[in-house]
Parts: sequence; structure tokens; C-alpha cells
Amino acid sequence: MSIFHDEIEIEDMEYDEETETYYYPCPCGDRFQISLEELEAGEDVGKCPSCSLLIKVIYDPVSF
Ligand SMILES: [Zn+2]
Repeated sequence: MSIFHDEIEIEDMEYDEETETYYYPCPCGDRFQISLEELEAGEDVGKCPSCSLLIKVIYDPVSF
């Protein structure tokens, strides 16, 4: 079982249309990221590429 740094609402994340990815600032200075594709596949874990922290992304799969 993974340990999450935080749980973040999808509305609080920043969406980049070019990369189709949602971002959220990580305490390490980098950003957590989760792509639209991953969300559509039911994935809800945002990962930071620079450290091992994870966030759980809260979203409604029905309205998404
Ligand atoms: Zn980080």
C-alpha cells in the first residue's frame, strides 16, 4: 500500500493543454504530475519525477 503525501482535488491542480497533464507543486520544488490519459484509465496517483512522494488525486470519474 502506498503512502500519499497529500490528497488533492483535481480542481486544485494546474492543467497544461500542450502536454495534457495536470500538475501540482511538490515540496521538493518540482511538480507532481498525472496525465489526462492516466486519469481516463482510472489512475489516481500523481507522481513527482524528482522525489518519491505521491499524491492521491480526487476526481469524479463520472463527470470527468
Ligand atoms: Zn518532489
